[in-house]
Amino acid sequence: MNFERFFPPLIHKALEVGPPGQWAPKPFSQNINLHAGYPHPNAIPIEDLMKAALNLSNKERDLPFQYEGSPSKKNLKILLKENSYIRGIHLDNQKMIVTAGSTQALDLTAKVLLHESDLVALESPTYMEAIEIFRNYTSNFISYPMDQKGLDVDFLAEDLAYRQKNRIQLPKLIYTVPTFHNPTGISMDLSRRTQLLKLAEEYDFLIVEDDAYGQLASKGELPPIKSFDKFDRVIYLSSMSKVIAPGLRIGWAVAPKKMVEAMSHFKKDADHAFSWAVTAYYLKHCDFSTHVQQVRSDYSKRLLFIKEALSKYMPTTIHWTEPSGGFFIWVHLPTIDTDKLLKKALAIGVSFIPGKHFFIDPCDGSEFLRLSFSYADEEQISKGIMFIASLLEV
Ligand code: PMP
Repeated sequence: MNFERFFPPLIHKALEVGPPGQWAPKPFSQNINLHAGYPHPNAIPIEDLMKAALNLSNKERDLPFQYEGSPSKKNLKILLKENSYIRGIHLDNQKMIVTAGSTQALDLTAKVLLHESDLVALESPTYMEAIEIFRNYTSNFISYPMDQKGLDVDFLAEDLAYRQKNRIQLPKLIYTVPTFHNPTGISMDLSRRTQLLKLAEEYDFLIVEDDAYGQLASKGELPPIKSFDKFDRVIYLSSMSKVIAPGLRIGWAVAPKKMVEAMSHFKKDADHAFSWAVTAYYLKHCDFSTHVQQVRSDYSKRLLFIKEALSKYMPTTIHWTEPSGGFFIWVHLPTIDTDKLLKKALAIGVSFIPGKHFFIDPCDGSEFLRLSFSYADEEQISKGIMFIASLLEV
């Protein structure tokens, strides 16, 4: 039976790109893994999480394993609300929803806000899974360029003015990763953050702020746009994936009350109740703040390390971004097709992500690649960069 005839047009369009991740190197293969945005194995507080799970099961018996039973499950929301996670976000007239990673928060955002004909604005390049998620709800996109200070907000302002003047459709929302952007590692500077918020007010659009890497910024550094949102323009998404463990699937959104109510309506009780309880126990009884500081400092060292390796091994024609933190660095290799380069790299045991996956139009980005410095060890990073560089000489 031709099952696909049951799908509506948007799903056909979404599936044109193939199943998610089908092209990607296997995350746990023997390759030097410079492609996955995974936390380093040592950055996951495994002992503490095991202690939390054990204490919880001893104390509450079956409750953490029930749908809603564990008293600790509720603590998670309280802790997230109180601290929100030390990023200067105050709930005031806003509400929070806890989700299965920020991925679910983004999916619910798209589900609640988007109609097929709505225009979504993206940074170019942008987080590839965000593209996949938005594609499930609309096929109408516009991309805006970035430079070393993040999204080019002046370019955006000019385009918005042009659109308004000529009665061309304006975006309903812009999706941005302003802090340690995926894939470029760049952070949007403060004046652009405020300027973007002003534009949202002026041209009546929403900002979906993905702060998945925000907790890797030191305190007071790079405040989220949401922290100065007085007009209910920002839907803020965050996560414990990069600072505790992605497998817990703990993320959240902070947004105006009505928005969160609509998201809850669709989420139902699809929560990972056990994970909520374990995470709450961990946050309450273990030293999360020291852990985050440690993790931050470890990733900063690895960032320095990958920059040094790039400077040492890459030809002078190759350039890369200058992230101040996060997991990624974005490399420009003029005249090289990075899709072809990946095949050769895999054959000698190193992986990265070709740039085209981070663009709406797959014809874009072929001269770029994303390197992740979060998962591989320093020695592997050095070897991996050396291997990739050796392929450029032939
Ligand atoms: N947003 C960005 C920019 C990311 O890089 C990631 C992780 N790759 C996510 C969201 C998803 O994170 P989570 O595990 O919280 O779903």
